[in-house]
Amino acid sequence: MKYISTRGDAPALNFEEVLLAGLAADGGLYVPETLPKYSAAEIASWAGLSYAQLAFKIIAPFVAGCISDDELKGMIDETYAAFDHAAVAPLKELGSNEWVLELFHGPTLAFKDFALQLLGRLMDHILVKRKEKLVILGATSGDTGSAAIEGCRHSKCIDIFIMHPHQKVSEVQRRQMTSIIADNVHNIAIEGNFDDCQEMVKASFANQDFLKGRKLGAVNSINWARIMSQIVYYFSASIALGGPHREVSFSVPTGNFGDIFAGYLAKQMGLPIKQLVVATNSNDILHRVIANNDMSKSSLKHSLSPSMDIMVSSNFERLLFDLYDRDGKAVSELLGRFKTQSVSLGSQQVEKLQSVFDSISVSDQDTCETIAQVHAETGYLLDPHTAIGVKAGRELNADPAVPMITLATAHPVKFPEAIVEAGLEPPSLPEHLKDLFEREESFKVLDNNLQAVHDFMMTKLS
Ligand SMILES: *Cc1c(COP(=O)(O)O)cnc(C)c1O
Repeated sequence: MKYISTRGDAPALNFEEVLLAGLAADGGLYVPETLPKYSAAEIASWAGLSYAQLAFKIIAPFVAGCISDDELKGMIDETYAAFDHAAVAPLKELGSNEWVLELFHGPTLAFKDFALQLLGRLMDHILVKRKEKLVILGATSGDTGSAAIEGCRHSKCIDIFIMHPHQKVSEVQRRQMTSIIADNVHNIAIEGNFDDCQEMVKASFANQDFLKGRKLGAVNSINWARIMSQIVYYFSASIALGGPHREVSFSVPTGNFGDIFAGYLAKQMGLPIKQLVVATNSNDILHRVIANNDMSKSSLKHSLSPSMDIMVSSNFERLLFDLYDRDGKAVSELLGRFKTQSVSLGSQQVEKLQSVFDSISVSDQDTCETIAQVHAETGYLLDPHTAIGVKAGRELNADPAVPMITLATAHPVKFPEAIVEAGLEPPSLPEHLKDLFEREESFKVLDNNLQAVHDFMMTKLS
């Protein structure tokens, strides 16, 4: 499988190169040159598979030529064996044709584990084989950081630096990252917001001279391997509810457009998906583009769903590439203008966009009301991100006969602030995190300044 850049001006790479490179040299994101397509009969034949077996089926074509089947199988088995639910991604029924897909049974209690626990193993495997080292620089709105650190902490080939926006992640989220004390793990709190952190990651990829010959790798969803791993649970959920012979819809709490983009790909690969609902919080640029063709930045707001406090959604670029018939120049031109001004898409592009996605923006107040309402109706406790998805699914469901599956992206224990705001009792931490609030923390607070970040990194690397 070959991968090409969304800006059309970087060399095509194989999986191994894409995994290690992260961002393309032209500033674009890598996407597969072609997607595998599956018939209904093939998808139906996967009905009896375990989650790990299904993951192998879906992922193998994307890594073909770089990783052997046996090696891939080993890494996938290990990854999902560490999840604390036998089904790995279990479905829970909230009401008639209303479901949540629990994606928080991994070690750090958010869906980021699905990709990052595997990505850490894939990277380490390739680095050992190549006898290379990698410096990872990541930005996190809260959940990527802990999952990436957990995935990479045992690697002898990786130094990992994670920037989070200072005082803008939940305390549980922060402690999950900063309480991992290891020589190769470095947490940085940036006096800024997530977009500032993400922008510094991209700028560091564009010019890596500061690393004096070391190589930079990515754990954010700019890394293709993240998206690839997330395609799997769309298939597993659909098959569990009667797919491919029955259509299903998905409602996806969205920030960087990575998770929902994986759903879009599942649909392109042949999975019968009726609706894909983009559910945002008050940072609603994606909703505004889809509903009104208004791609304009507004100031980032701090919400009760901090993992979605993102304005510039990296992965939307991958969708734009398809909307513009894979014309890298057109994508590059549009995103160039977007850096300094508001932009709108062409009429054909908007039509295509609206034919695939529905969207809505959900306020903090509606988030809390949904948490309280679902708890009163069913006894089930939603985390604030998932609540946004459930609310969106209820508002936008076009056909009550089609199951609406909301991706439950995090465990509510990570966001006690929102649970209390909804008038409920936060759950207690699971056994492996019981002493989280007593653990020693280590992190460095830095200004929103690229030079300061680079200087800090070099003191830790030398
Ligand atoms: C990261 C995250 C999201 C947003 O996912 P994207 O892939 O960035 O759209 C939603 N909910 C939670 C809990 C997250 O951690």
